[in-house]
Amino acid sequence: MKKTAHIISHSHWDREWYLPFEKHRYYFIKLMNEMIAQFKEEGNAFQAFHLDGQTVLLEDYFAVHPENREIVKQLIEEKKLYIGPWYVLQDAFLTSSEANVRNLQIGLHDSKAYGHVSKIGYFPDTFGIYGQAPQLLKQAGIDTAAFGRGVKPTGFNNTVSDAPEYESPYSEMIWSAPDGSTVLGILFANWYSNGNEIPVDDVEAKKFWDQKLRDAEKYASTNQLLFMNGCDHQPLQKTIPQAIETASRLYPDYTFKHSSFDEYTEALKAALPEKLQVIEGELRNQRTDGWSTLVNTASSRIYLKQWNNHCQTLLEKIAEPLASMGFLAGGAYPREYLRFMWKSLMKNHPHDSICGCSVDEVHREMVTRFETVSQMGEVFVQEQAAALAEKIDTSGAPEGGIPLVVMNTTGWNKNEVVTKIVDLEKVYFSQMHFEQIPAHLQEREMQAYKLVDVAGKIIESELENPVVEFGYDLPEDKFRQSFFAKRAKLSFFAEDIPAFGYKTFYLVPCQESAGQLKDHSADDSLVMENEYVRIQFHEDGTYDLTNKADSKTFYHLGIYEDTGDVGNEYMFKEAEGQDPITTKGIPAEFRFIEKTPLRTELEFTHTLTIPVSADDQLADERNRLIWHKERRSGRSSETCVLTLRTVVTLEKGMKGPAFKLTIDNQAADHRLRVLFPTGLQTEKHQADSAFEIANRPNAPEKEWENPSFCHHQQRFSSLADDKIGLTVATDGLQEYEILPADGTIALTVLRSTAELGDWGYFPTPEAQCQGIQTAEWQVFMHEEDVVTSKAFVDAYQYKVPLQAIQTSAHEGTLPAVHQFVEWESEGLAWSSMKVAEECDDVMIRWFNPAPESLSLKASIPDFSTYKSTILEVQTNESSDQYDVAGYEIITLGFQPKR
Ligand SMILES: [Zn+2]
Repeated sequence: MKKTAHIISHSHWDREWYLPFEKHRYYFIKLMNEMIAQFKEEGNAFQAFHLDGQTVLLEDYFAVHPENREIVKQLIEEKKLYIGPWYVLQDAFLTSSEANVRNLQIGLHDSKAYGHVSKIGYFPDTFGIYGQAPQLLKQAGIDTAAFGRGVKPTGFNNTVSDAPEYESPYSEMIWSAPDGSTVLGILFANWYSNGNEIPVDDVEAKKFWDQKLRDAEKYASTNQLLFMNGCDHQPLQKTIPQAIETASRLYPDYTFKHSSFDEYTEALKAALPEKLQVIEGELRNQRTDGWSTLVNTASSRIYLKQWNNHCQTLLEKIAEPLASMGFLAGGAYPREYLRFMWKSLMKNHPHDSICGCSVDEVHREMVTRFETVSQMGEVFVQEQAAALAEKIDTSGAPEGGIPLVVMNTTGWNKNEVVTKIVDLEKVYFSQMHFEQIPAHLQEREMQAYKLVDVAGKIIESELENPVVEFGYDLPEDKFRQSFFAKRAKLSFFAEDIPAFGYKTFYLVPCQESAGQLKDHSADDSLVMENEYVRIQFHEDGTYDLTNKADSKTFYHLGIYEDTGDVGNEYMFKEAEGQDPITTKGIPAEFRFIEKTPLRTELEFTHTLTIPVSADDQLADERNRLIWHKERRSGRSSETCVLTLRTVVTLEKGMKGPAFKLTIDNQAADHRLRVLFPTGLQTEKHQADSAFEIANRPNAPEKEWENPSFCHHQQRFSSLADDKIGLTVATDGLQEYEILPADGTIALTVLRSTAELGDWGYFPTPEAQCQGIQTAEWQVFMHEEDVVTSKAFVDAYQYKVPLQAIQTSAHEGTLPAVHQFVEWESEGLAWSSMKVAEECDDVMIRWFNPAPESLSLKASIPDFSTYKSTILEVQTNESSDQYDVAGYEIITLGFQPKR
């Protein structure tokens, strides 16, 4: 039977990588202009071009050539230029679950304006893909995914086998998500450049095609062969029509076609064999020797991951739910502004950007982008919260009372110590000459205050001594208003703040300070304790963590470990000849910072002597492009001091202690981790991934040769046997390893390297991350595993603080305590709340982290609900209760009843 060679012209366009964005864009503009010229040329047989699956490239082009918008639109409508479905080619593991959904939502939304979208889940270069991708794609109406990494084809016999040593014999396979959703998976078994630079000349073409046809046929399950005509930043091959003429003449048994993914996948599906191998869940290159997985991009330039976690949390866990609550209270939903913030953030999500595997200029520009997203998010949250507070009836405030509204933007009720700067007294410049105000405020006697709830009950609180500071208001209808305020830090325990809701408190002047707290710092034993846990510190900074409910204890957690790293931004390679240096047995200096019933803060400092860098051999190995696996350099004999300052915080209501490590990093070429030896002997562990708490084996497959076996995580990783478990939640620390010998979770907090590490030598001195670096995490103990015990709820709430707003006493349409949405389900994980892109329905998303099905009830008064896809398309009728299948991602739409 005649075979068809589908030639798809493309260029894989990393927006920034070994060159900064603007330099890569210069070449991209050239590529686009040449492509358009090719299509416009009379009689030119150039048929189609695939624009790398990311619509952001159109924005990059139109910023320079806005006049070409219509021509490009026409080419897309005529199915010559293929765009979408993503906004950017993101890294799949280092961007949040919701960021992965928004990437598809926004990419498809933008594609719509151009008339046609290439509906293929395109992951050409992605460094591994999360297991729920088939479910997300399926919900988005996409039934095929194409990827370059993550699984290994076995080729040779082309026989389908269930034997475990086979991943897939073919480049085509069925890829299944944990919930059972499947898509057709296409592996670029010979990479996405297997049809690059096709010769026109007969002799060269013969040589080329003899090899390339053989390579493709080795893995293809059908007579439809795929040749990707392009590579990274590949200029256009204008001679494709001529090259196809040559090939057609030389190989009469083949049809050569200048094709597209639309045409190729249609032909492929019609020709597929009855049985294809099913690949389940995560694609992480686990069946390779482990030297090229690129997993250690998870620890390259950790500051970027921290920034990203901050911005993602700000947008998806605070800004969107808050704006949705404002919308339910009758306000407008600033959809376009939110989309703009998401787009700005997603420009940092491409795989070479968020992975920290580019040159220094790229990552410097990313920091600026993160800063701008953070600025937008902060002003947005501040204004949304103020507008909501304005609608709340606070007229019940006692005489002189200052109303404080505590808002919970998450999907779970929260108990948390809230810290808020409160303006106790304000004098505007319009009221007094500004030079006189500070003295006037300072002279006034400090009033005592008590904090009460709406029922008048006194709440445990602590008000620090006030200071006088300058401030200003930006009224909606007037010029800015300057003032001086007497302001003070208020801390209090906000109990049972309803999910998607708020509670009002009043700070009321009184005769004597009731509920003020005493400092208990006279007691200097190295113990921290609250209602849930007791932590006993040892001299070396390690600690025994006891769960008070059952008195079970984990011993000697929190060892720091420093190892030489002679790898690069992509891969860790341990330096030869020296064991890791740890803080085990090295005394730290301790100091209590705070000790009150609301909060205990303990600081301890280590000074660790470590090699200053790798030895001299590394520079030579880098220069000679020695692959990381082959490097033999060790650590320098010259040393320096690594100062590690750890602050441990335990507040009332916290289920486990929180840690902030500040590192003064003066060393190069090394990796620092914190170790949690649990002593648990298990085969498997769990880690937070996209819409999944993934089960992963502790030990690698037999093919694995790399002594390092690190993994990606989103927010936490967890080890548990059937009785007890330990979960470490983090703020943007996305790499961990399980050391099976003593059941240790090893969390990477810093990795210092000095080169990019692909196809040449690109020095990246800033990837050494020298100077002050920080890392934050929280440790939870629980019964059984993180899913069964529902400890994931606490882990997901780490670093998603309650929002406290000071407002005035006024009437309002909303009650002083309110919950906008009620929901009930044993064990669903909440993910997002927003208003739909195309209509005014409120959309809330959860996922089921367990294999068993669960039921979900959710309601907003006067709203009916329906089940929707991730693209906010209704899939069934209204119901009071929904069955959520094991591992299902469920989105409910809430529509006002008419
Ligand atoms: Zn790439």
